[in-house]
Amino acid sequence: MGYKMTTRTVCLIGFLLASTTASAQPSGHKVANLEIKILSTMLADEGFGEWGFAALVEVDGRRILFDTGANEDTVQRNLKVMGLDLSDVEMVILSHNHADHTTGLLTLRRQFAAKTPRALSKVYAGTGILWPRITPSGQFDDRVARIKRDFEATGGSFIDVAKPIEILPGVWLTGPVPRIHPERNWSNVGKVRTAAGDVEDTVPEDMTLVFQTDKGLVYLFGCGHAGVINTLAHARMTIDPSPVKAVIGGLHLFAASDQHLAWTAAQLKSFGVQQLVGAHCTGIESVYRIRDLVGLTRDTCMVGAVGASYSLTKGITAGRIAK
Ligand SMILES: [Zn+2]
Ligand SMILES: [Zn+2]
Repeated sequence: MGYKMTTRTVCLIGFLLASTTASAQPSGHKVANLEIKILSTMLADEGFGEWGFAALVEVDGRRILFDTGANEDTVQRNLKVMGLDLSDVEMVILSHNHADHTTGLLTLRRQFAAKTPRALSKVYAGTGILWPRITPSGQFDDRVARIKRDFEATGGSFIDVAKPIEILPGVWLTGPVPRIHPERNWSNVGKVRTAAGDVEDTVPEDMTLVFQTDKGLVYLFGCGHAGVINTLAHARMTIDPSPVKAVIGGLHLFAASDQHLAWTAAQLKSFGVQQLVGAHCTGIESVYRIRDLVGLTRDTCMVGAVGASYSLTKGITAGRIAK
């Protein structure tokens, strides 16, 4: 007997769809297994280094690619060196628009989609990533919009993240972060074209991945342009008020003044940060300053290298060069 759609079933389906898409209710789930492996950063003793960032996340049996590196093939080559395959990874996060986080996307999508069409097919990006940039010399730059067009031509899609969303149980994206503290952790002096006109490019789309665990929150940052403290404060208000277990990734503090580093470290301490892997634009000197100021140790705070990893149960496994 064929299935007949009645008005009632249509209404029911409509209701189910509405409640799924609204997904306003947090799952309350605490992540039990979490591994983060760095695939692109400056320091490398396995694979190739570059001024860029990418990491592979494995969380409760699901995998996510976070950022895609600065050169078209760095992450691709590092995956080969590490013997890793991304065929079963569907979700990609782009933390922000900068080329050192977005350039590897199309190479990786094309490589893995050739055999597995769903591989790397869903890109999550904060509102503003597609807004054109105006360089300091006045050049119009819509690079990410062009990447999106090419990406969609492969059958993939971009998902706009305007506010905190739970993408997997206990795994959140902050979406764009209000700048309540004047951290100004970015270098560019260009402009961004918004509905309100051309304004200073504060990297408005910059967002961070947050994991809820029963040991506290774990954060994975791309460049931290919104400010690491602004981001922790926003997530505490909107996602989970728990203390911070670990901060991993790029915090854009390499050129920070002593005063700004001292303030940042004091704030990190007040959030209860227990572990820190400062990769990419955090800056080597800044990582060690923060280690001292927060009171962390050689085992709990280090510079992230390609191949270094963070595990919720085993802690930080540094690259040989960063031990
Ligand atoms: Zn950046
Ligand atoms: Zn960067």
